[in-house]
Parts: sequence; structure tokens; C-alpha cells
Amino acid sequence: MRDALFHFVTSLSGGYVLVKAGKVECSIKSLVLLSVLSLLVDVDHFLQYVNVSTEILHNVFIILALLFIYALLGSSERLNRYKQYFLILTVMLCGHLTADMIEGVFGIPLFYPFSEKLYQIPDNWEIDLFQETDKPVIGKAGIALAAYYAIIALTTLYLRVVSRARTARKQNTSR
Ligand SMILES: [Zn+2]
Repeated sequence: MRDALFHFVTSLSGGYVLVKAGKVECSIKSLVLLSVLSLLVDVDHFLQYVNVSTEILHNVFIILALLFIYALLGSSERLNRYKQYFLILTVMLCGHLTADMIEGVFGIPLFYPFSEKLYQIPDNWEIDLFQETDKPVIGKAGIALAAYYAIIALTTLYLRVVSRARTARKQNTSR
């Protein structure tokens, strides 16, 4: 579990890289708004006050639901901008979930509602310098950040392929 500022900054910076590298039209204002929206899954942390003991929004199914909506929006030019927003938000949420798996006592119930088992990045993924356990060369924060940027890189590739296909389609129809 990370603090809100950490999540906001990683969402905003990751979103910015995605928008620039993927050549997506999205203003800084919209990016800030999407970063704030991505924080909303943390209402989960207040559920304990209404006697709900597990986090219900920190799971892969939220990501899948967003991707499903993204797919539902189809290839309409009119909806394209909103479609891009959905994709950026999904990537930001992937970053949020990976960050919440860095450390702490809790971890997140990645497969809720099917399982309430909590997941964290396993200790044995860390690689220590000269067997000194407090000096990892590869630590959980680094692993989480690398995973987040790998997702951003893959999404960028996807966006470029889609944009190339769209341009080709336009050229074909205008001939
Ligand atoms: Zn969270």
C-alpha cells in the first residue's frame, strides 16, 4: 500500500510518457484528471469503517472491466478520444496495483471476488548485493516500477500499431 501522492505522481508521469510515446492526443489537464480518477480505487482503504474487511477495487478484474469498455467503444472516430482516456486510465491503474504490491503487511487481493488471498511482490524476487539482505541491487520498488514501464511500453507499441492501421484505412477509403 502506497500513499496518495506516490500514486498520483506515478500515474501522471507514466501517463505522460504513454501519451508522448504513443502519440495520443491528451492535454496535461486531462492527464491530471485521469491521475486523480485512478486514485479513486483507494476508497477501498475506508471500507474498514463500514465493516468491509477486504479491498474490493484492487484486483485484475477492474483492469479487465476497463479493457472491456475500451473494446466496446469500437473503432468510431467520434469516440476515439474517450477510448484513449480509458486506455490511459487502465495503464495508470496497472501502475497503482503494482505499486500497492511493493511491500507492507497487507498486499492486495488480486483475484477478488474469487479469492481473498493477498498478493505482494515475493521477497525472493529481490537480488541482494554480496548477500547483504538490506542492500538489494534489484528490490521490490524497482521491480514494480520496471513492470509499470513495461506495461507502458507494450501499450505504446499497441497504440502505434492501431494508429498505423487507422491511417492505412483512411488512405484506402480516400482512394
Ligand atoms: Zn491502492
